[in-house]
Amino acid sequence: MSAETVALADLKRELAELKDLVRIASLLAWDQEVMMPAGGAGARADQLSTLGRIIHERATSPELGKLLDQAEPVTAGLDPDSDDARLVEVARRDFEKEIKVPAELCEAMVRVSSESYPVWVAARKESDFARFLPQLERTLELKRRYIECMAPEGEPYDALLDDFEQGLTVVEVRRIFDRLKEALIPLVRAAAASGAVDDTPLRRQLPVDGLQKMERHVLARFGFEPGSWRLDPTVHPFETSICISDVRLTTRYEVEGLESLLSSMHEFGHGLYERQIAPELGWGPLARGTSLGWHESQSLLWENLIGRGLPFWEHFAGELTRLFPSELGSLSAADIYTMVNKVEPDFIRVEADETTYNLHVILRFELEQEMLSGSLPLAELPQAWNRLVHDYLGIEVTEDRLGVLQDVHWSHGSLGYFPTYSLGHLTAAQLWQRLGAELPELSDQIRSGEFGALREWLRENLHRHGRKFTPAELRQRILGGPVDPEPFIAYLKAKLAGIYGEALVA
Ligand code: ZN
Repeated sequence: MSAETVALADLKRELAELKDLVRIASLLAWDQEVMMPAGGAGARADQLSTLGRIIHERATSPELGKLLDQAEPVTAGLDPDSDDARLVEVARRDFEKEIKVPAELCEAMVRVSSESYPVWVAARKESDFARFLPQLERTLELKRRYIECMAPEGEPYDALLDDFEQGLTVVEVRRIFDRLKEALIPLVRAAAASGAVDDTPLRRQLPVDGLQKMERHVLARFGFEPGSWRLDPTVHPFETSICISDVRLTTRYEVEGLESLLSSMHEFGHGLYERQIAPELGWGPLARGTSLGWHESQSLLWENLIGRGLPFWEHFAGELTRLFPSELGSLSAADIYTMVNKVEPDFIRVEADETTYNLHVILRFELEQEMLSGSLPLAELPQAWNRLVHDYLGIEVTEDRLGVLQDVHWSHGSLGYFPTYSLGHLTAAQLWQRLGAELPELSDQIRSGEFGALREWLRENLHRHGRKFTPAELRQRILGGPVDPEPFIAYLKAKLAGIYGEALVA
């Protein structure tokens, strides 16, 4: 082997071990949520924290820096889009970001987040914001220090966005959100006032046995292979992959109507992204979806664009009504389609429909700017929250449990995370538009329960690349330009005009 080949091989060996450690931590976390008896909690927290420290040490070690220095000249001569050139570029970027954060600040963030979580749980239960306030103040203080370390070129908040969606800026998010507000607020008002959709049959819990059968039936058609996937019950649904051929979904059944089914389809979309990464990238840092926005576009494609679409129900309504003859037996495909698309302003983001959802995100984004800059004293956060819910959704929050305390994110210190959910909605709609041109038979295929051509298109154009391309590069390659809210707005208006009548969108 030449010295160059050795340099690259040494770097890959180190990065592969680092990836192994990260995946071991994911497996421990999955086990904690899905399998572990409660008695394991204390030791598991210690194990995860030990592993987290080792990962941080390895990811910021001067040795890794040296390996990168040695490998860079080797890849400088390669095609800049080759796997090796991209690998070294991504690894360098990860390394430079990691070393900007002093170990002491890193530990403080982990500690405050783990102390903050149980306080948030208790505060939410009691609907007592004052109890959570000191924790939130400490979290914000640490976030400001973190931003100083990152020293972003634009606005401070850009540093937080970049952790979840590389290169995304406040300026771009504002442009998108202003347009969304202009379009969505009147739509929500009009739909809420019309009250035309009665979804009573889906407002109760359905027998778990039938739900599980339906879920298996749908996921098998989607592409869930028993040799590489799992689906387990848990408290909060999520997806995690231990390697590209070990993909784990979770769901919960203590919810109304078809929510667990739609949630499984959502997690399937996340899982398929990870499952279809090119096997040759599977060992290292490129074996992950490129960003949270792109990831969410995949989960929402399967949950909403497919799962809340009429062609889907034209295929699957028969099986659903056969499984629930007394509860849903009288419903047609069109009835189910109408019910799962009901627009209803409500307090809780995770239960929101496609039309109101992004308004929940926008208000969080706007508040986070003010919290971070200090222009909004944190003690006044509940009032500010309630005012925006009134302005955007037209409803009055009466308890902080249903308002400012509802999301876990701030207790983890995850600021800058919410906008990626909206990017997911917008990207999914842009992708859907593109798919309409690329796969003209898609609606007919869905109507006959066939998803192979769609999976293959997603694999070839998006999934196989993993993190090889940046989120913006993938947008350029696949969608031909930056994030665009218009396809999402057009998609919603067409759907709601069909359900509520043309007058609604006029
Ligand atoms: Zn998701």
